[in-house]
Amino acid sequence: MKYDSVSEDQIADDLGMKVNDVRKILYKLEEYGLVKNYKERSEDGMQMIYYWYIDREMLNRRLLRLKQQVLEKLKARLKKEEDETYFYCPRDLLRFSYSEAMLHDFTCPRCGTPLEMEEDNITKAILKKLIKKLEEEIKHEESVL
Ligand SMILES: [Zn+2]
Repeated sequence: MKYDSVSEDQIADDLGMKVNDVRKILYKLEEYGLVKNYKERSEDGMQMIYYWYIDREMLNRRLLRLKQQVLEKLKARLKKEEDETYFYCPRDLLRFSYSEAMLHDFTCPRCGTPLEMEEDNITKAILKKLIKKLEEEIKHEESVL
């Protein structure tokens, strides 16, 4: 067999579902480009059997695109972190943007402690780490796809 494929009947059997229901779902997945099918005549020549398999190349390309989208979001978030000055309450560690802190006269709205300016923020460090990792993954996948 050319693909790691499975017939509709087998899938229906395995899942305890009706073949028609299985087929409906499979066609939906095909619309998303996640699976493909081909058909073969049954041994007795009486009917066509549909076999389905996962379109791995398409799946990988979709995952790659998803990762690229996440990367853009992380970068935008990092930029926001870098452009913005944050304040925090040293007592309960609540965090505020500059405008939020100003709104509360630079005191914690929960406990009244004066807010302190954040020197180096951990969020930024984590974002940078994630971005680096994702960039490496994307670069690698782009080279093999
Ligand atoms: Zn507080």
